[in-house]
Amino acid sequence: MEFEPVIGLEIHAELQTRSKMFCPCPVVDSTVAEPNRYVCPVCAGMPGTLPVPNQRAIEWTILTGLALNCTIAEYSLFYRKNYFYPDLPAEYQRSMYDYPLCLNGWLEIEAPAGPKRVRIRRVHIEEDTGKLIHVGGATLVDFNRAGVPLMEIVTEPDMNSVEEVKAFATALRALLRYLGVNSGDMEKGVIRFEANVSVRPRGETRLGTRTEIKNLNSFRALVRAVDYEIRRQIEILRSGGTVVQETMGWDESRGVTVPQRGKEYAHDYRYFPEPDIPPLVIAREWVEALRAQLPELPQARLERFVRDYALSRYEAALLTEDHRVADYFEQAVALAVQGEPALEPRTLAGWITGELFRLMNEAHLEIHEIRVPPEALVDLARMVQRGEINLNTGKWVLREAFESGEAPRRIVAAKGLTQIRDVAALREIVQQILDAHPKEVESYLKGKEGVLKWFVGQVMRATRGQADPQRVNELVREALEARRSG
Ligand code: ADP
Ligand code: MG
Ligand code: ZN
Repeated sequence: MEFEPVIGLEIHAELQTRSKMFCPCPVVDSTVAEPNRYVCPVCAGMPGTLPVPNQRAIEWTILTGLALNCTIAEYSLFYRKNYFYPDLPAEYQRSMYDYPLCLNGWLEIEAPAGPKRVRIRRVHIEEDTGKLIHVGGATLVDFNRAGVPLMEIVTEPDMNSVEEVKAFATALRALLRYLGVNSGDMEKGVIRFEANVSVRPRGETRLGTRTEIKNLNSFRALVRAVDYEIRRQIEILRSGGTVVQETMGWDESRGVTVPQRGKEYAHDYRYFPEPDIPPLVIAREWVEALRAQLPELPQARLERFVRDYALSRYEAALLTEDHRVADYFEQAVALAVQGEPALEPRTLAGWITGELFRLMNEAHLEIHEIRVPPEALVDLARMVQRGEINLNTGKWVLREAFESGEAPRRIVAAKGLTQIRDVAALREIVQQILDAHPKEVESYLKGKEGVLKWFVGQVMRATRGQADPQRVNELVREALEARRSG
């Protein structure tokens, strides 16, 4: 029997506003800040303090909801979700429970089989908890993160493969970065995933029993955990067993999901309306004013790149995932149409998604940190296009420019890399090399075609890679053939 995986995600994304959700304490990078430095009586959960909702956080959540094609609620309400854990100072967490700000939207993702819509069930605000730090045998607590606004985004169970999960996570992260509400720095824990996974016989319409994997803090953990859990459940069903609904953790080092506890239910939390915050009434004019602020979103930009620049969906997706990369590309395109020879946007897309991304990955740099401005890339691409340098030299020059910050043109001049375009000079070199290797010439003439390549290699070496390989190929063949008749 064939099984179909079904996955729904719950995503927690910090809203990186200046201050926390209900107090004036700043939102700081909790991976580097001095512990417990940014805490006040409100976010420390002292009795008798009064929370004041952060308007910016509410606006950013509405913006996110609009970007996710959601309906924005007329009213929203904070609840207290009661549970005990040492990182939760008040022993309750404020959350919008069953009056979320945003409902029933969708996000289009680049699934392997083409674009696909994943429905969004809800988006609401809650407050983040503190962090436990384990040192030696002791556990310490840091409340810097307590009270940081956290957006929870819940999808419908609409993903059916690990690839779709990855595509969704990628698209959502890109969206949050475009909106400027979250940095997308996964290693700082500003986006965290929970995956609900079930499997069912292919063709079955009812959902299977799910497990929920908590605390997936990187794309890698998300993908590996979901993949493992799908296989584990299929295995259970194949051998005649039943999947138990439970909450699981992900053991990164062993690469397995591990049961943590039985499934918790809403009634376990004794939710009740937060008495200190009045219901939020969301004026329609406010929503429309926010809608007018929406920037061009990743998916729209992708479609535009495909249409206007004749890029493949794949290339366009790579270029639009980070809005700064997309800006860089468009700046380059603007420069490329000005000069001579005109460069195709596709050529520039190739340089960026190929060589430049490779260099950025190696150096762990993002596009705004690199020292090759769009002008330099366009100049380089043009030198290759004109045949001043060959493609391989171009790649080498880009690496030099990337490492030194020097202009490509100056590197080419300083190193004397200009391609040898003097055909007479090249012919001369070819003749010398043929003369020096009579045996190889003979075996070519006897039908060993492969020798041609070897000769091309010799010429490229003699010219220190500065000749156009295509041209050399032609010249070598010509010279060899001339010896056949001669
Ligand atoms: P809870 O709040 O208890 O975690 P919800 O019903 O709100 O449960 O669902 C949470 C997430 O689980 C949603 O993303 C939803 O799409 C997903 N989900 C629900 N049922 C299934 C299922 N059978 N298989 C996969 N995902 C599911
Ligand atoms: Mg859940
Ligand atoms: Zn505070």
